[in-house]
Amino acid sequence: LLTASFFAKRFAIHLSRPLAFVMKQLSKAKKTGDFRDVPFETPTEIEELYQELKVNRLALLQNQDELQEQVLKRTRELNQANRKLTEQANTDILTGLHNRRYFDKHFILMQSIFSRNKSQLMYAIIDLDLFKKINDTHGHLFGDFCLIEVAKILKRFFNRESDIVARFGGEEFVLISQCDDVELLIKRMDELLKYIAAYVFQGGLIGPVKLTISMGIAVGEASYSNQQEEWFSVADKCLYDAKHNGRNQTKLVVVSTVK
Ligand code: GH3
Ligand code: MG
Ligand code: MG
Repeated sequence: LLTASFFAKRFAIHLSRPLAFVMKQLSKAKKTGDFRDVPFETPTEIEELYQELKVNRLALLQNQDELQEQVLKRTRELNQANRKLTEQANTDILTGLHNRRYFDKHFILMQSIFSRNKSQLMYAIIDLDLFKKINDTHGHLFGDFCLIEVAKILKRFFNRESDIVARFGGEEFVLISQCDDVELLIKRMDELLKYIAAYVFQGGLIGPVKLTISMGIAVGEASYSNQQEEWFSVADKCLYDAKHNGRNQTKLVVVSTVK
């Protein structure tokens, strides 16, 4: 019995040591070449088993790598699609300008920055004059072309990092800009007015066509109000006056924080 028990123990050691070694190697291996040979005498069956398990383990590791790479690729694609979606949601399809949604969101941001810097803010509404007539005379597509051209001109005139030009809807644009000097601003807006009035709109076979704009502007300490509606209301009243007084002109009101 003693002899039998001795051999059973020897046999167990003979098997369990290499098996434990093999398991450890397999569990810690991260790539090819990480596997060490069994450093002591091992039964052939265990050697063969080790070889087979090594192959399987390597295949598994490779699969893991591929999976990780695929997840990374998909995440990158998803992020890109998300960015594109956000951009689309903030862009006016026709003109490529920012849309009202973007403008509403960024007004709050810019107003608070200007306010903190104790700067003046200009809030302008720009409306194309008698645009319905242009559509009726030359067609809606030509009208679209004019809107695109005007958008490009506005972008060129207001190209500072902190300027925001947006299409508010229809033939109406809105812009905010930091104003350093009201006199200079009036001059600049006058230049814009004259530039558009002199611009020749020629699209395909249609043209040359001329059009004008009217502008309503509220300007003053950015701290005047953090409510866009208040700025809009002042500028909109000015626009109404500009239209009423014959169009192709600017009406500007300096708002005051002293109410
Ligand atoms: P006012 O000088 O008083 O602003 O006259 P108006 O004709 O410009 O103003 P009204 O509000 O009567 O007409 C606006 C026109 O703008 C009517 C509409 O067909 C046109 N319009 C609005 N959005 C678009 C657009 O996306 N494309 C084109 N082509 N026309 C548009
Ligand atoms: Mg109009
Ligand atoms: Mg209008």
